[in-house]
Amino acid sequence: MRTITLSNGKIVEVECLSCALTSGLIEPDGGVIAETAHFHAHQDVAYPIKGLVIVASKRHVISLDELTEEERLDYINFLAKIREAQRNALGIDHVYYFYNEDTTHHFHTWMVPRYQWMESFGRSVESVRPVLLHTRTEMNDEENREEMHDGIQRLTTELKKAH
Ligand SMILES: [Zn+2]
Repeated sequence: MRTITLSNGKIVEVECLSCALTSGLIEPDGGVIAETAHFHAHQDVAYPIKGLVIVASKRHVISLDELTEEERLDYINFLAKIREAQRNALGIDHVYYFYNEDTTHHFHTWMVPRYQWMESFGRSVESVRPVLLHTRTEMNDEENREEMHDGIQRLTTELKKAH
């Protein structure tokens, strides 16, 4: 079991944070952005970046190759749908994607929008961690959190529209 302190200060004990989130045991701050039969999307509000989305599998697997055929299809279609919503609802031009298999949780992909100000942290993959840390420690103010929640709302609404 791991003890996790949520952004609202609540402390919970879970075996796997991704399981707790995707099963509904923990309600993510900002709510569920969208979900499919096999995946679940929410924002990690510790990083107040407008339009950032975490896509987690509902099943406790670690690696991409553990996904079934059906899950793989669902995954790529869901990512593309979210990407489209980021573009249409928030005007996001570029997104960085990553997932790591040595996570303490289970399979989840980060979709990190790229904004102009991030250029000062360099380009490409080496800038991702510094950017995330910067948003968590230096941009965690009311204004940015409001912007982030506005982004969550817009994405949630956009993804509810039938395509
Ligand atoms: Zn899990």
